[in-house]
Amino acid sequence: MYETTVASPLSAGAFTLPALPFEPGALAPVISRATIELHHGTHHRAYVENLNKLLTGRDELAGLSLDALVERTAGIPGQVQVFNNAGQAWNHHFYWRSLSPDGGAPRKAFRRLLDRDFGGYAAFIAAFTRAATGHFGSGWAWLAIYGEKLRIETTFNADSPLSHGRSALLTIDVWEHAYYLDYQNRREDHVRAVVEKALNWEFAEQNLLEAVGG
Ligand code: MN
Repeated sequence: MYETTVASPLSAGAFTLPALPFEPGALAPVISRATIELHHGTHHRAYVENLNKLLTGRDELAGLSLDALVERTAGIPGQVQVFNNAGQAWNHHFYWRSLSPDGGAPRKAFRRLLDRDFGGYAAFIAAFTRAATGHFGSGWAWLAIYGEKLRIETTFNADSPLSHGRSALLTIDVWEHAYYLDYQNRREDHVRAVVEKALNWEFAEQNLLEAVGG
């Protein structure tokens, strides 16, 4: 059986690798089992374990939630390593929940927002795919909300809307480790397949309700 959680070797306040919200093969062929297992079991795990090591002896950061750690360390010189690992731990936990084997088009209420802010679902797919594909180097593409308006943005490395006080609704990881086994350098093919077939719109709806205080 695939191991989805890991007990931390550290004591109080240590972070653990969250379980995947789906079976690792459930997104194939959009994302293969091998990619999911490597991505979750190796990359995501390493960010969590590195974060726990970096927090050892850092009493001023003890007891903070992952969200609070990201917010506290963003843009602070001297906290770059903690931020990078906390950010990547947060981003990956958000990423897994942004994906679903039952993905597809959003429901009617959300579609109306996509119509309003992007000119339709097809236009959203095109714009999101273009942004994610065009992002130079490692990072993330996000559907986020600024005030009342939906926006597409991309961030570098471990950065996220959270680091800037904004609410994320969905994300796609565009680091090469997210797609290289399956798509080699064809990032656009990967992004388009995920956006069209594997986005978790229910998660986006929940995040939207939280962001607007619903
Ligand atoms: Mn990743």
